[in-house]
Amino acid sequence: MAFASRKGHSGDADSFAALRNEMVDRDIAARGVRDECVLRAMRKVPRELFLPEGLREFAYEDSPLPIGADQTISQPYIVAFMAEAMMLTGGERVLEIGAGSGYAAAVLSEIAAQVYTVERVRKLATQAAAKLRELGYGNVHLLHGDGTKGWPEHAPYDAIVVAAGGPQVPESLKEQLKIGGRLVIPVGIDQRVQELVRVLRVSSNEYQRENIGDVRFVPLIGEEGWTT
Ligand code: SAH
Repeated sequence: MAFASRKGHSGDADSFAALRNEMVDRDIAARGVRDECVLRAMRKVPRELFLPEGLREFAYEDSPLPIGADQTISQPYIVAFMAEAMMLTGGERVLEIGAGSGYAAAVLSEIAAQVYTVERVRKLATQAAAKLRELGYGNVHLLHGDGTKGWPEHAPYDAIVVAAGGPQVPESLKEQLKIGGRLVIPVGIDQRVQELVRVLRVSSNEYQRENIGDVRFVPLIGEEGWTT
């Protein structure tokens, strides 16, 4: 009996892995993400395990899904697109704002050396930390708090990604970038529609900013974000 249920279990994992590879081919590689580090990471991380159990069957449909507390796990294509925009080659120190389910942090941890991630909703922070620990992502570090202030204790970062949309680029995050570092963040005056912005730190007081796409994220709420 025990053997039969173990077999059933790995069968599930195998079929999820097949669906995951198909999704990466169809929704990510075919739509223009070329970065091999990113594609490899997306093929590896079991997104189904970061979802509430009832939603696991939708893990590979390339859409955002609810994770509780009015928040969502991002669409896989967007996770891949943002990771590519961070221009990682391996070994970096990365900061993520908006851990949510922990899924994107897990993807980044397959590329970077250390991933620091901040989440303002306590329940999500606790769940994500437990999930990341359970799955063995030992290089992901999670803080419960307001990520618009960054995580100064571990700065500076090679790259920072924000998974929620703010009214402007938080100064604290710009300050926590290394020279040459990249900050990828949705910015918009509308709380639910944003432009994805990449900020490159050129020198201690010089930044270059470019718009790289239109996106829809949940609001970034905090001292340097939206107030509610
Ligand atoms: N990366 C996540 C997606 C999370 S959605 C994943 O892979 O599942 C965005 C998250 O940002 C939400 O969980 C929301 O609670 C969080 N958030 C919003 N404002 C924040 C802030 N100021 N600091 C930290 N997290 C914030």
